[in-house]
Amino acid sequence: MPTLPKRPLIALAVLAALLAAWLGFAAWYDHHQRAEERPATYSALIEQAGQGELSSITFANGTGHAVGTDGSRYRVVMPVTDDLLKEMRAHKVAIAFDEGPGGLMAQTVGVLDRAAPFVVVALLIGGLLMSGGQFFGMGRATRVRPEDTKTVFADVAGVDEAKEELRETVQFLKDPRRFAMAGARVPKGILLVGPPGTGKTMLAKAAAGEAGVPFFAASGSDFVEMFVGLGAARVRGLFKTARANAPCILFIDEIDALAGKRGESTSHSEREQTLNQLLVEMDGIVEGGEVVVIAATNRSEMLDPAVLRPGRFDRHIHVSLPDVAGREAILGVHAGRLTLAPDVCTRTVARGTPGFSGAELANLTNEAALSAARQGRVVVTMADYEAAKDRVLMGTERRSLALTAHERRLIAVHEAGHALVSLRCPQADPIHKATIIPRGGALGMVVRLPEGDRVSVSRAKLMADIAVAMAGRAAEEIAFGPDQVTTGAEADFRAATDLARRMVTAWGMSEEIGFVAHAAAEPGARSERTAWRIDEEVRRITDEGMDHARRLLRTDRAALDGIAQGLLERETLSGDEIAALADSETERATEAA
Ligand code: ADP
Ligand code: ZN
Repeated sequence: MPTLPKRPLIALAVLAALLAAWLGFAAWYDHHQRAEERPATYSALIEQAGQGELSSITFANGTGHAVGTDGSRYRVVMPVTDDLLKEMRAHKVAIAFDEGPGGLMAQTVGVLDRAAPFVVVALLIGGLLMSGGQFFGMGRATRVRPEDTKTVFADVAGVDEAKEELRETVQFLKDPRRFAMAGARVPKGILLVGPPGTGKTMLAKAAAGEAGVPFFAASGSDFVEMFVGLGAARVRGLFKTARANAPCILFIDEIDALAGKRGESTSHSEREQTLNQLLVEMDGIVEGGEVVVIAATNRSEMLDPAVLRPGRFDRHIHVSLPDVAGREAILGVHAGRLTLAPDVCTRTVARGTPGFSGAELANLTNEAALSAARQGRVVVTMADYEAAKDRVLMGTERRSLALTAHERRLIAVHEAGHALVSLRCPQADPIHKATIIPRGGALGMVVRLPEGDRVSVSRAKLMADIAVAMAGRAAEEIAFGPDQVTTGAEADFRAATDLARRMVTAWGMSEEIGFVAHAAAEPGARSERTAWRIDEEVRRITDEGMDHARRLLRTDRAALDGIAQGLLERETLSGDEIAALADSETERATEAA
């Protein structure tokens, strides 16, 4: 007797039953949604808005769904005109656009229409399990009304550079017309790059608060959808909503989830459509919208290059982990609501928390308050802060804190070396700042300011740049001896070697090799002997840079130690501070001699 394959049959029956149940539910849900809405006329709605009885209105496919201040719901079929929007805005009615397919039933049927039933059943069940809530319109932007945007720049501490950069944005949002009249182009797409918890969301919110405009927030992951076109529709709705409420700030957190590089992993057409929609919307905003879009990411290198092109997210602001002074300021802001005992010294707490983000410091403050409360005290003491620090530290893995005192000293000396040599080489780019706060893969860094875009670079400047690159290792060697040097100079050597090789093979800067463009030649075109000589020349040039760096640092040892000490104490030093430190130390050393 032939046996029927029982399992698949049962599975199929279950799937069919589930689908039927789902369709039933969808129909009920849609009906229920609509039944709650009373039909209204256009003029009645305007009148209600005028009397302040409307709180919000959502436009979807030519129908306006309004919610009254008393919670009652209305539906009116009407075209969306500028006049209407103006009227609604004037009466403080929140405006939103919903571009997704109308109703749950329509969504389901739309999908059924396109794909083979089997796939759909699988998708529906998968979708239900994985993203359940999203069908019901969750994951849309949250809106904060201007009067509720209480956050201001003063609440965000220790990120002065970022605030400075956002000041212009605030000015623009306060009075867009003034900028338009002056013919000024204000960046409409701003990318905040930095580790989690450093205050990126807060900064965007504070910019809205300062300008007194509404703030819309969404997360990139809200747009990752199962069905082709849904994510794009959501992006469209979000931007439409923002435009209807202009001037305003639209904040997109975790933009990498929405705008990751294309073609990575299997090219997924849903993701691609969503990303393309974002690009289209950004271009539209730049053309003339009074909307500023602020996006945040931890990994800007993951973003599709198209997103970063001029006119889109072309202004980048780095928000790094706070230094000692920053941490003290953040602790101050959060301690503002506590009663502190006289023995609490936020400076000391700040010193003991290298690598903490703003969010972690906020958490620390809260733990300190809890510690006091547990013992029935209102006044928070230094001991509470100590206990809180231990708690927070135990909860998180702190790579930067795992650094020993010796390692921190090594990093400080290394960076001080770069800084001092670049200070003492007039040809090198001036220093903007030096820091020993870890960022990305680097344990510390010296940021230099290239003076304008250079069309051509002199041999002298290239040699200075190579010496500056070598100076990190040279400083380690001088301060700790040749046995103690570290792997920290890998990137420095790579940069220096790269420059030296191009000097030899492309720029005709080596007498020994002459003026031959070896870099442009076919691979294999040069003889083994020439290849060997090129390597020798590269070696000679990098050695020369190293010698130069060592000489400078040895003669200025006091300044090297002074800058390193300064970095250990303050973690970040500006170019001016470095110059002042170096000069005073050199002076002291000459006097002593
Ligand atoms: P991000 O968006 O960078 O992940 P958030 O802005 O969401 O960080 O910060 C989370 C919380 O951490 C904030 O609500 C605030 O309490 C605290 N915080 C972070 N950075 C700062 C800062 N610079 N100043 C004051 N508080 C901060
Ligand atoms: Zn270095």
